[in-house]
Amino acid sequence: MIKVELHCHLDGSLNIDSVQEMLKDQGMIFTKEELRQKLEVRPDCTSLTEYLEKFDLPLLCLQTKEGLKRAAYELVRDVAAEDVRYIEVRFAPMLSTDKGLTCQEVIESVAEGLREAGQKYGVFASAIVCAMRHHTPEQNMEMFRVAREYLGSGVCALDLAGDESAFPTSSFRELFREAKKCGMPFTIHSGECGSVENVREAIELGAGRLGHGIALEKSIELQMLCRKHRIGIEMCPTSNLQTKAVNDLKYYPLEQFVKADIPVSINTDNRTVSGTTMTKEIELVKTRLHQPNEIILLCTKNAIETAFAEDDVKHQLYKMIK
Ligand SMILES: [Zn+2]
Repeated sequence: MIKVELHCHLDGSLNIDSVQEMLKDQGMIFTKEELRQKLEVRPDCTSLTEYLEKFDLPLLCLQTKEGLKRAAYELVRDVAAEDVRYIEVRFAPMLSTDKGLTCQEVIESVAEGLREAGQKYGVFASAIVCAMRHHTPEQNMEMFRVAREYLGSGVCALDLAGDESAFPTSSFRELFREAKKCGMPFTIHSGECGSVENVREAIELGAGRLGHGIALEKSIELQMLCRKHRIGIEMCPTSNLQTKAVNDLKYYPLEQFVKADIPVSINTDNRTVSGTTMTKEIELVKTRLHQPNEIILLCTKNAIETAFAEDDVKHQLYKMIK
């Protein structure tokens, strides 16, 4: 069966061979084993903070047009090999402007890589631009104003990423109100670190989906809102276990959300940092969360339903799972 992925970060999903090459060009020589240790989180990772440290090195590879395009292209190529036919790839444009690229150049380079590989490998691929919680409102607004010009031509939505416990979602109301005004859909990383308030805020702001959404398990009221408004929950089991969003998979709320008729999807979050793929995530849901094939199919349908895609793309995807 085909796979559909809604939550995948570009910087956390770089091909290790390519990172080795790109860093070598910058005078940094690493063996593959050394790189693996620097890029992949250890099984005994203790927190989201530790997890986020794995992104420093990849970002060095995403400071040129070539690097950005290559990373986007290779990600789509690699996911096509496991039969992902639709992917939304997210990245924070402002994190790639350290060496002089403009926000516009960053977005165009990623969009180009996604488009070229998408055509070549038969994958619908588009970009979600991430505002960052630790950036100033001006920086985020500036990024958004550039990105909205690409809505429907490379960019499909907006996201908010970064340290959720230090920077609550309520500080970003203006950004999402502006997005709503422009008709740009958005997802927000919410409830990854236990905050029900961030989940509530995201729903009230009009998020079409929530990234992770683990804290939603604490509120029946908010679960009912997600069900009523068909707000998708982008679940990333391996990553959630690594960042300690859940301490044990036996407490993982996927089944609870499915039973509450909330459109849950299965995703990787960061393929390289988490050492995962869609194939592995689906296997985990089957074997460790004990979900049957029908639930996997339901999650794929949910992903199509809540994708930030045109109706005709969704129709084509539905046809592929029949
Ligand atoms: Zn994420």
